[in-house]
Amino acid sequence: MNNRMYSIEHIRADFPILDRQVYGKPLVYLDNGATTQKPRTVVDAITEEYYSVNANVHRGVHFLSQEATRLHEASRERVRTFINAASTNEIIFTRGTTEAINLLASSFGEAFLHEGDEVIVSTMEHHSNIVPWQLLEARKGIKLRVIPITDRGEICMDEYVKLFNEHTRLVSVMHVSNVLGTVNPIREMIRIAHEHDVPFAVDGAQSIPHIAVDVQDLDADFYAFSAHKVYGPTGIGVLYGKEHWLDRMPPYQGGGEMIQTVSFERTTFNELPFKFEAGTPDYIGTTAFARALDYVSALGMEHIAAHEKALTDYALQRLREIPAMRIIGEAEERGAVISFNVGNIHPSDLGTLLDRLGIAVRTGHHCAQPLMHRMGIPGTVRASFALYNTMEEVDALVAAVDRVRKMF
Ligand code: PLP
Repeated sequence: MNNRMYSIEHIRADFPILDRQVYGKPLVYLDNGATTQKPRTVVDAITEEYYSVNANVHRGVHFLSQEATRLHEASRERVRTFINAASTNEIIFTRGTTEAINLLASSFGEAFLHEGDEVIVSTMEHHSNIVPWQLLEARKGIKLRVIPITDRGEICMDEYVKLFNEHTRLVSVMHVSNVLGTVNPIREMIRIAHEHDVPFAVDGAQSIPHIAVDVQDLDADFYAFSAHKVYGPTGIGVLYGKEHWLDRMPPYQGGGEMIQTVSFERTTFNELPFKFEAGTPDYIGTTAFARALDYVSALGMEHIAAHEKALTDYALQRLREIPAMRIIGEAEERGAVISFNVGNIHPSDLGTLLDRLGIAVRTGHHCAQPLMHRMGIPGTVRASFALYNTMEEVDALVAAVDRVRKMF
């Protein structure tokens, strides 16, 4: 498929919610960084499985259970191919990015982190890649080291290199910023970490929907992401981890599925990936997730990226025409997220008035309070684009922002 065949009309027809109105205005949904809308095929996967296959996985000899297990494990394989992991043993299903990073912090922390050890994160991280490590600061006496960023919202690579020392045990940094849109030079950052024999974890929540990710090519040791940000259902996510790390990490939660044998004297644990998946998994969700990955793969990640880049470039150009506009985040390499403030208008006032005009944007600190502090602002308005957004929607955003500006 080439870009001419990227038919936005056909694509939008796959997403029934995009046809609705809010306050009598056509919905312009620009909060895709928070969650994406779902194509029919994803919702159909959920109803189809509940209506025709539903049974608990991994434990039944009966037909339905085996069928449900086959679908669930096929979804794991679908995720594996999507990110080009070496093995399905490296694909751990979680509830989302947040749980994936908590799993990593808890289990990697248990195995490898001791008092005085250091974990490197960046100033621009989402709270879900800060707080799990802070819990370890309190529990194990580790220390967080923070990579500074420039005023444009880019990682200070010189400072990053200087943070490594004999206590460094892990780097955990986001691939794409959910606020600034910055695409971090993750490949180079991973290379530098590995030069110091330090593994690297990537928060991929904002990259997986927009960029083709190959974990082997990046040489990432861990990579976390959420299904709901890539047109899949809520409540499913993935922690990718290289097998040689996961093998040496203890279970995160205890319960069914993650054990081999249990006795009061001694319990042994299941193999990868099941060792990290206690309890009944969201096997319906994983099937729907696989459908979502099929959907974006059929469109082609390169076509999605090209479409979103065109939208973002156009939006940046048009927004900059508005007087008193301040774009937060001017990185050279950027994704489909634009944060901004206009004059002295409080972001939540701007967002609320945009909402009345049918424009759904996010306002506030975007779960990145340290970043807000660094940029010296209380919050931003954030427009984030997806594969189904249009140039006309960008025009609607710009017209609405300008209208609100004139009201103040
Ligand atoms: N990391 C980043 C960069 C995000 O943007 C988000 C969600 O907005 C998360 C982590 C958390 O994802 P989830 O809430 O799906 O666990």
